[in-house]
Amino acid sequence: MPTAVLQTSFLGDMILTTPLLERLAREGEVHVVATPANAAVLANHPAVSSVLVYDKRKADAGVAGLRRVAARLRATGATTAYMAQGSWRTAALARLAGVESVGFDTSAGRWLYSRRVTYRQHWHHAQRLWALASDPRNDALRPPDALRPSLYPGALDIAHVTALLDAAGVVVGEPLLALAPGSVWATKRWPLYDALARELVARMPEYRVVVIGAAGDAPLAAAIHTAVQERGGPPVIDATGKLSLLGSAALLARCAVLATNDSAPLHLASAMNTPTVALFGPTVPAMGFGPLADRHVVLGRDELPCRPCSAHGGQGCPLGHWTCMREVAPTTVVEQIEQVAQGAL
Ligand code: SF4
Repeated sequence: MPTAVLQTSFLGDMILTTPLLERLAREGEVHVVATPANAAVLANHPAVSSVLVYDKRKADAGVAGLRRVAARLRATGATTAYMAQGSWRTAALARLAGVESVGFDTSAGRWLYSRRVTYRQHWHHAQRLWALASDPRNDALRPPDALRPSLYPGALDIAHVTALLDAAGVVVGEPLLALAPGSVWATKRWPLYDALARELVARMPEYRVVVIGAAGDAPLAAAIHTAVQERGGPPVIDATGKLSLLGSAALLARCAVLATNDSAPLHLASAMNTPTVALFGPTVPAMGFGPLADRHVVLGRDELPCRPCSAHGGQGCPLGHWTCMREVAPTTVVEQIEQVAQGAL
């Protein structure tokens, strides 16, 4: 029986939806409604029969756009839509398409759902999404603890990574260490990646640093490069804005460790099982968005009573001191990177 999954949230949410897609694909076709930005990350995914792009802010804005996408959703033949994103708009989309909808009992659009599933606050979000497809007669069914998302970079994505590394003079077997210093939320951006880079040159000189992120993260990559050069390290490989999302995933698959904020690269690394050191400030992993790679460490100032202070992390610290990020020491981070790289954690 064909099903649909409606996921129009952030990139990380889409990546964490892939275990649900895999589960549903065991029963039949799975059609996914996604934003233009997130649609590309599902390319080559064996669990996905089709991706319906819903450009809710531009091309498909308004009621006419909603009806247009609803018609395309109806044409898939899906009988049930799993509401991985919980707005009233996606709920209305399912209604207009004439499909049954299953979503969380905390979602804004819950009043329009055909069936509501308990939102389990303390589960990882990948588990919460997976549980949307739980048998309602066995609602206590717990998803596997080792649930991990999945992505499938294509040959072109991998070729772009190879070209990038070749151009940087990376030799076969040279270990790579990825840093992802960006985030759309300013308070999530740990401000000491350049200091970390200096520590890495001193303590892990055999590793080549590669910076992952969007084009807007290039100044952060430049600061890291300068810091490494000051210590006599090899040129940093700046991959910011140079790869597709799946290209970034393919690059992470080549890396021994990723050090990252609570942002999309963390979830890309989970999908590729790249060992991860994650720095959390205004958010905490207990909210459901921690790393899922087999080897991972989470760093944060757990003793601060103000944490967490927002669901996503804001653009400024409400208390003005931003201690949660400013006081995570680079020496602590590099120690954890060493441990994870050596397989000790
Ligand atoms: S209020 Fe606390 S948790 Fe929030 S940004 Fe400021 S220091 Fe961080």
